[in-house]
Amino acid sequence: TIAMAAIDKTGHIAVGTSTNGATFKIPGRVGDGPITGSSAYADDEIGACGATGDGDIMMRFLPCYQVVESMRLGMEPKLAAKDAISRIARKFPDFLGAVFAINKNGVHAGACHGWTFQYSVRSPEMNDVEVFTVLP
Ligand code: ASP
Repeated sequence: TIAMAAIDKTGHIAVGTSTNGATFKIPGRVGDGPITGSSAYADDEIGACGATGDGDIMMRFLPCYQVVESMRLGMEPKLAAKDAISRIARKFPDFLGAVFAINKNGVHAGACHGWTFQYSVRSPEMNDVEVFTVLP
């Protein structure tokens, strides 16, 4: 899955995601990609979240909705991302997955479980894309 969030100069926030990756591509499967709140979610008032990983597990927790709602309640992106991942890990200790979180001010973070996760950021004040590595 490739999930992406964008904040435009007027503050509108959008998020999008590809549908399931090659690993899980079996005929008839509906992965987490098309499920709102599972692999992507955004709210102009708060921020956005994108996810990747074992969609069949992650979709049961709507982790991206969870991240945005946690940020709404005042959590920083890093804590919101870690919290969403740990909610899943408590029930499925072997799952592989990750989320990125970004708030409306552009503060971003990632959290992952079972693998090392990388995400990229580009903002107007940056000269190039920067890749961030998140350890489990
Ligand atoms: N989440 C995707 C799926 O389960 C896979 C991925 O993130 O690569 O379809």
